[in-house]
Amino acid sequence: MNKDTLDTIIKLLDRSGPIVIVGHKNPDGDAIGSSLGLSLFLRNRGHQTQVVMPNDFPEFLKWLPDCSNIQCYDRNPGEVRNSIEQANLIFVLDFNALERTGDLEEELRRSEAPFVMIDHHQQPDDFAAATYSDVSMSSTSEMVYHLIEALDGVKEISTDMSTNLYTGIMTDTGSFRFPATTATTHRVIAKLIEAGANGSEIHEQIYDTNSPDKIKLLGVALKNLEILPDFRTAYISLSQKELDSNNFRKGDTEGFVNYALSVQGVIFAVIFIENKQEGITKISFRSKGSFSVNEFARSHFNGGGHTNAAGGRSNKGLRATINEFISILPHYKNALIHAS
Ligand code: 5GP
Ligand code: MN
Repeated sequence: MNKDTLDTIIKLLDRSGPIVIVGHKNPDGDAIGSSLGLSLFLRNRGHQTQVVMPNDFPEFLKWLPDCSNIQCYDRNPGEVRNSIEQANLIFVLDFNALERTGDLEEELRRSEAPFVMIDHHQQPDDFAAATYSDVSMSSTSEMVYHLIEALDGVKEISTDMSTNLYTGIMTDTGSFRFPATTATTHRVIAKLIEAGANGSEIHEQIYDTNSPDKIKLLGVALKNLEILPDFRTAYISLSQKELDSNNFRKGDTEGFVNYALSVQGVIFAVIFIENKQEGITKISFRSKGSFSVNEFARSHFNGGGHTNAAGGRSNKGLRATINEFISILPHYKNALIHAS
């Protein structure tokens, strides 16, 4: 983190009253883990903090220390509005454009409190008083650790803080295997283990708590797998009907797209998930090597993210969205064939 950014954050913290910490819509392990880790650290230093999320988070994260104090805008809009109105400092974590907070965007824009952004996605918007943005970072949770270190707070990291930050780093790095995992990431993980995080228990809580419905839905997803060898591409689709008949719950499709990416020779993988209630098809993109799914998602599907992991959406139905995708692919044939 550069010195100016750190100095600004220190100044903002010095004069701050209530602090709100916000993650992105459909929060994942990194959004929740980084927010709770930072919140517990700041609270321990005497600050008043409140974590708020645009909507609910998956069941497999619902054991994280202090997660029961999170306020969700979709369930309790009045409560979240109050917290934001009272805050005089707002941390935005794991996203870099306010529209990533869905309906909460309006409430955030109304606030006069300065923002501090901590994020590792590409192309950050310029709205924060302090922007700590680093696209080379494995996760926002790793960045929160670096902020704590810069604030001379490593000795203050508790078991609860380290459990949250470990979870965020673990989930965003696919258990320390994606390319953004560095020697420094592992050093941070070592410090978090020393501070009390139990890696093996965390793995079990996140990965070995699948419901039978989720595993059956995975079976449907794998049956629907289509491979396009000419484009080194594979995609999966799930219709609303398929989701309904397997009692789909938030988070159940997490990680499915990685099965498409694991097919030999495939460097571009996509999952299309129909959401009739919102009238959209939600899309997750993954790639290996130099092919940028951030660019692809931004250019065609109102999305973005990282080079190798991005998301987006279409306002069309499932079949129409897939057809659109297939019609776009030939424009990328060269890039896909020659990607390193
Ligand atoms: P996922 O596919 O797991 O939902 O998201 C992959 C990555 O892309 C995550 O880092 C996530 O924050 C980002 N992402 C997901 N959906 C969107 C979107 O609609 N817009 C943008 N800008 N980023 C997204
Ligand atoms: Mn992240």
